[in-house]
Amino acid sequence: MLKVTKRAKQVSPSLTLAITAKANKLKEEGVDLVSFGAGEPDFNTPQYIIDAAKVALDKGMTKYTASSGTPQLRKQICEKLQKDNNLTYKPNQIVVSNGAKQSLFNAIQVLVEEGDEVIILSPYWLTYPELVVTCGGKVVELKASADNGFKVTPSQLKNAINGKTRALIFNSPSNPTGAVYTREEITALAEVLKGTDVWVIADEIYEKLVYEGAQHHSIATMSEDAFNRTIVINGMSKAYSMTGWRIGYAAAPNAEVAALMDGLQSHQTSNANTIAQYASLVALSGGEDFLKEMVTTFNSRRKTMLEEFKTVKHVKAIAASGAFYTMVDVSKLFGKTVGGKKINSASDLAEVLIDKSAVAVIPCEGFGAPEFIRLSYTVSEAAIKKGLARIRELLENI
Ligand code: PLP
Repeated sequence: MLKVTKRAKQVSPSLTLAITAKANKLKEEGVDLVSFGAGEPDFNTPQYIIDAAKVALDKGMTKYTASSGTPQLRKQICEKLQKDNNLTYKPNQIVVSNGAKQSLFNAIQVLVEEGDEVIILSPYWLTYPELVVTCGGKVVELKASADNGFKVTPSQLKNAINGKTRALIFNSPSNPTGAVYTREEITALAEVLKGTDVWVIADEIYEKLVYEGAQHHSIATMSEDAFNRTIVINGMSKAYSMTGWRIGYAAAPNAEVAALMDGLQSHQTSNANTIAQYASLVALSGGEDFLKEMVTTFNSRRKTMLEEFKTVKHVKAIAASGAFYTMVDVSKLFGKTVGGKKINSASDLAEVLIDKSAVAVIPCEGFGAPEFIRLSYTVSEAAIKKGLARIRELLENI
């Protein structure tokens, strides 16, 4: 093969997508698989949003828009950020992209220079380090322990910052841990950043998925200082069950930074899908009935999953109050033989679970948490019970 770039070769393909693909293949083959792998709600996109897309097509909204998104959608996003997050932006501070993933990529490309350090709180969503490395940055992992609810402390953050630190990626509620930082905890982290040159990329994509009284707070609201150093990232995927529509957005503290993100995007993908932009406009101006139902359902499943895990031997599920994931510590199984296979890693266990028990889970090596597997509760209560019964049985006589 002729030469290809180091940049492309250093990227690890998404492990989550690989497991999901294997699970889907087994399902297609007729295997009665329980899949806890998905990173998306199992609800349909609400009908009023689907209808809006049809209207967009019928009205001929099928052409390019401004690369940063339609003025109407950016205005609606400003209203959403004001109403939900108490954050004030003008439409020229908003860039609409092909999913929050592209928004994150745009932000990192604008902020991170070759050799700059980017702090990522571990366990982390596995895409973050790949984006940083692709932009020439160096990842600095800050480990948040399960004992501390998977949250880092202000002193940990303080110790990680040096002259080369360019940005902190802050994700609350978190994928994969489900951790939701309290307002006090976020205030304390924001205090540490005062007087530094560190940007914050705040990934708030799971903001609406919080349970049992937990509340989402944007780090950008903590102070004027925090606002001025934060790019808020959000999108339609999780709250409106619109993962396939690919609409995300970034809100920058000033129009200049937004224009830089827009400039890059204008040459890479141009605008996000026009029809999906119109549907998102309607989605954001609709009520939250759908969301309430989804949150209630997720919370009930979350409780069922935690309850079921109490009777599974050798592993420990960590309760969290956000997103739709449960982390399970499986390290006590390392060195033991399960289903005829010696388990030395979370991936080994995930392999046995899918092969012997027809249960798909996500091993968390790629999330900076090699002792954990991640289970999504984006499946029915019955499927949770069935899957957990299978796991229980497999681990019963170890
Ligand atoms: N951020 C986090 C933490 C996620 O888990 C995901 C999707 O799994 C995204 C961003 C990307 O969302 P989008 O579908 O908008 O690209």
